[in-house]
Amino acid sequence: MALKATNCLGCGKLFLNPGPNKYCPECMQKREEQMDEIASFVRDNPRSSVREICAALGVKKSLVIAMLQSGRLEESHINIRYPCAACGKMIRQGRYCKACGKKITGEIAESLRRVRENAAQKEKKGIYSKDQWLK
Ligand SMILES: [Zn+2]
Ligand SMILES: [Zn+2]
Repeated sequence: MALKATNCLGCGKLFLNPGPNKYCPECMQKREEQMDEIASFVRDNPRSSVREICAALGVKKSLVIAMLQSGRLEESHINIRYPCAACGKMIRQGRYCKACGKKITGEIAESLRRVRENAAQKEKKGIYSKDQWLK
């Protein structure tokens, strides 16, 4: 796969991007370190608000939210609400509110079922063509 030059979202520097990264390796490293700092700050100061975290550590609010969305921070440790990625309802954990989460899990289960059905049908066809082959 060809490397693509991308502008880092953090420092604006051009870097060779081996994947869908938004940050250059240095900024990725910095974000990891900041995430560790946030995690330990929240552990020591449960129920901090995002503003308190940002003020104490000098990190971006978006980083704290990214951590919550990816499940790296537990909502019970932090005082925050942010919009559901699907309907915009204010939530405290994950990417979606309960209703959208349920709907999306249902859709995933449904498409998995369809994939499995397709595979089963293909298998049947495979057996059929093998029969043809034997004739
Ligand atoms: Zn950077
Ligand atoms: Zn929702």
